[in-house]
Amino acid sequence: AGTSGTALLAGPEGAAATDLLTAGEKTLARTVRGRRVGLVPQSPAAHLTPVRTVRSQLEETVRALTGTTRRARRKAAEDAAERAAFPAGHLDRYPHELSGGLAQRAATALALIGDARLLLADEPTTGLDRDLVDRTVDELRRHADDGRALLLITHDLAAAARIADRVAVMYAGRIVEIAPAHRFFGPAGPRHPYARGLLDALPDRAFTPIPGMPPELSALPEGCAFAPRCPLATELCSSRPEFTAHLACHHPEQPRA
Ligand code: SF4
Repeated sequence: AGTSGTALLAGPEGAAATDLLTAGEKTLARTVRGRRVGLVPQSPAAHLTPVRTVRSQLEETVRALTGTTRRARRKAAEDAAERAAFPAGHLDRYPHELSGGLAQRAATALALIGDARLLLADEPTTGLDRDLVDRTVDELRRHADDGRALLLITHDLAAAARIADRVAVMYAGRIVEIAPAHRFFGPAGPRHPYARGLLDALPDRAFTPIPGMPPELSALPEGCAFAPRCPLATELCSSRPEFTAHLACHHPEQPRA
């Protein structure tokens, strides 16, 4: 199936928006990456330069984005490390000397340097123990509370519950529900059967897994992709539900409370 869509990034005050799908490499490198959009990557080990220490990569990023003096660069690099809970004593290490969790924090520190108005965080809590998850989550939430935007991509629903204002659930490559976080995680709960199943699978909720496996993306069924696993499926579900009123489902669940 084909894909379509738009990705417009609002410009600085008064300036036109940038169309990210058609912008040239020069525009993206000079005005977008790191400056207006920061990225916490899913695979930090592959994102870090293997032959440079963490400190040197942080300072280089500060120089590229702000062009400050050497002393100011050092301070800004150390501040970013601190915000991402990266220990100062490890700043002079190379990426191969870091655990997965430390590499994740180094990548988060790099993303925070530009104070970008939009931060994309792709599974930023992977490999972190619970204390560090909480610190990372708090730092990302602070980024949003300071008036900037955060798009968090995650399987960690506990982290999403602490950070998100709005939740979008995807199944088989499509958004199936968008809901305010207070409703999604609150007593009313989500309305799409898959979203409800995700929450019911959590250990501190019903701890009931969703039966079956997700479909192959290369062989999606004609109708609703969740139908083989859905307790509410009917014949109608052999036609694909439209995404309307923030839901793609023929028989959405009723709010629980
Ligand atoms: S469209 Fe049908 S099969 Fe799909 S989630 Fe809704 S009720 Fe279940």
